[in-house]
Amino acid sequence: MAERRRADQSRREPSPDGPVSRRTGRMARGQVSTQSRRTKAFEPPEEALCALFMARIRKIHRCKVGFEVDMNPRPTTRVLGGYYKTRRLVRIYTNDTVEGRRPIEELFDTFLHEVAHHLEYTEPRSFAASRCRRVPGLMHSRLFWLILGELKDRWERLQRGLGRRCS
Ligand SMILES: [Zn+2]
Repeated sequence: MAERRRADQSRREPSPDGPVSRRTGRMARGQVSTQSRRTKAFEPPEEALCALFMARIRKIHRCKVGFEVDMNPRPTTRVLGGYYKTRRLVRIYTNDTVEGRRPIEELFDTFLHEVAHHLEYTEPRSFAASRCRRVPGLMHSRLFWLILGELKDRWERLQRGLGRRCS
């Protein structure tokens, strides 16, 4: 909880109405994004990122089994995310130790990677798994790369306006 407040503190200007309560502070997201767009690329807060990424994945694949997402603000150097099979949890580390907040498209890339792990466990057959299998002990199997490649391809096609919606 304490870490999550970092996002609030990083606001460049105080609210014009003076000190905001923690409750209304949360509501002032639109304002924050306008401010950050002036200085650098739009960087939504962690809680908005989760909703955004879930909306994106729904456009390219309808997951048969749900999963939890933890946008974790703890700064990391090399670890970008993880998938926890038993908890069906996708974790994304949003901050780099040196650079601060990771760019949104890099975070989405990590998100797709971890969702591909989720899919290889929960619905391997959705992705032509007759040829590819998860190999025990191998972190990234052929099936994993096939799923991730398919997700990325669908997303890129959607970006280019060639998108097909998947059932
Ligand atoms: Zn991986």
